Amino acid sequence: MNDALITALKAIVGDSQVFTDPRSLEVFSKDHSWFSPVLVETLKDKLAEVVVAPGSSDELQRIVALAVEHGVPLTVRGAGTGNYGQAVPLSGGILANLHRLNRILEIDAVAGTARVEAGVRMGALERKARELGWELRIYPSTWATCTIGGFVGGGFGGVGSINHGTLWDGNVLAAQVIPMTADPEKIELTGWDCAAIIHAYGTTAIMTELTIPLAKAVDWAEAVISFPTLEAAIQYGLKLANDPSITKRELSINESGIPEYFTPLKNEGAILPDRANVLLEVDGAKLEVAVQMALEFGGSLDWHNPIDKYHKGGIAVSDFTWNHTTLWALKTDSSLTYLQSRFEVDKLLEQVRLLKARFGDEILLHLELIRENLADGGPLVAASLPIVRFTTKERLYEMIHYCEQIGIQIADPHVYYLDEDSRWNGEAVIKAVARFNPLGLLNPGKIKQLETGEIGVQAGSWFGGKTATTV
Ligand SMILES: Cc1cc2nc3c(=O)[nH]c(=O)nc-3n(C[C@H](O)[C@H](O)[C@H](O)COP(=O)(O)OP(=O)(O)OC[C@H]3O[C@@H](n4cnc5c(N)ncnc54)[C@H](O)[C@@H]3O)c2cc1C
Repeated sequence: MNDALITALKAIVGDSQVFTDPRSLEVFSKDHSWFSPVLVETLKDKLAEVVVAPGSSDELQRIVALAVEHGVPLTVRGAGTGNYGQAVPLSGGILANLHRLNRILEIDAVAGTARVEAGVRMGALERKARELGWELRIYPSTWATCTIGGFVGGGFGGVGSINHGTLWDGNVLAAQVIPMTADPEKIELTGWDCAAIIHAYGTTAIMTELTIPLAKAVDWAEAVISFPTLEAAIQYGLKLANDPSITKRELSINESGIPEYFTPLKNEGAILPDRANVLLEVDGAKLEVAVQMALEFGGSLDWHNPIDKYHKGGIAVSDFTWNHTTLWALKTDSSLTYLQSRFEVDKLLEQVRLLKARFGDEILLHLELIRENLADGGPLVAASLPIVRFTTKERLYEMIHYCEQIGIQIADPHVYYLDEDSRWNGEAVIKAVARFNPLGLLNPGKIKQLETGEIGVQAGSWFGGKTATTV
């Protein structure tokens, strides 16, 4: 990094959009990896050397050309809500904050698609789409603040995944990207080629525009239903999830102990002590049927939001789902952390029993019922973000290894890099790095196999001159 580069950046975006003061570098170099005590330690000293906020994709193109000319790493940031340090620059360099690329370009109300700039907040897009009779198919519980580029680049699924699967289930139709090359042309990716940028941690190419499919808007109602035991809550959740006559947008299950952390719901009288609960978004016309179904399992309706209050500024149940569940727990007790796992639905109760027998209240279960691989019929999956009491890293990995031993898949949220785990489509991303980021300057250090030399990119690259023989 040198003065000439900073001056050149200012010439592109204007003085007021280039930041080198220590406070800005600190703030924009962090994300929500603080959920992991392991990552806090690993990433604490990682800082960008300059933050720049382009106002258009043309400006971004010029920033890319400049970074390549100077051989300087570049990391892209949306809203910084990623949990694994995805947007934390490991090698200094330029951090490009894309919050100004925030235009909704087109909502095609006939086809049910949206074309947006990558820095658009998902909450803004959901509101606009609903005005036109459509809604987002899937979105993370951080929808109010996170950007669509950040969700595609660092996320997985969320609210709506029980219907529409995850990011890989046709939820990105097309993307305009800028490659990390000396003379970067904007490239349009469509169809399966979009796998190159999904959950790639911004290591392949920079998304500037995205086209996503929408769903017809539904009049949703929300509910909190509690149960005497976790097993009863799970049995109810599975029955409801498998009932095609009740359309759902969200179905989250919490072991007793976790709901106590949901302060705003508690203040509403929605949390009964010592009860497991299920947080629901269902078709408002079917809420009563869903509640009736719960009686069979000892369930009681403790709170609900009718359709006219859905997303109207009061409580939204999705604020207590996905990794917001963990957030509420951390607000009360900072010694907690979490895992990310996937249970086999037909072994779910057995795996839960084994886990509880081994670790007791050191692990509290939080499940998210979703469907994925829609092209293969979209089997129901119990994704899970259990709350874990953190004592040592060794104990954390003892839990992880035990989960794996009994058939619970773990996507380790305490590492900052991508590797051959189930969270991502490694092959597509590695190929795309070779094509769009041949010098390895985009968010370097985030793909394990590139770091270890198991695979390489072209000669003279950031990765030490390995050749691209295996890509
Ligand atoms: C409380 C909480 C709840 C969460 N719930 C969910 C959930 O329900 N589902 C879920 O999937 N995730 C969830 N997350 C993780 C995170 O919020 C989402 O993945 C979110 O969508 C990230 O968006 P962002 O704009 O903050 O991205 P950032 O964190 O800024 O970036 C994420 C990654 O994408 C890359 N990136 C950003 N923009 C671009 C671009 N234009 N081009 C290329 N790469 C880019 C970045 O380099 C980075 O690697 C949660 C996190 C928190 C803290």
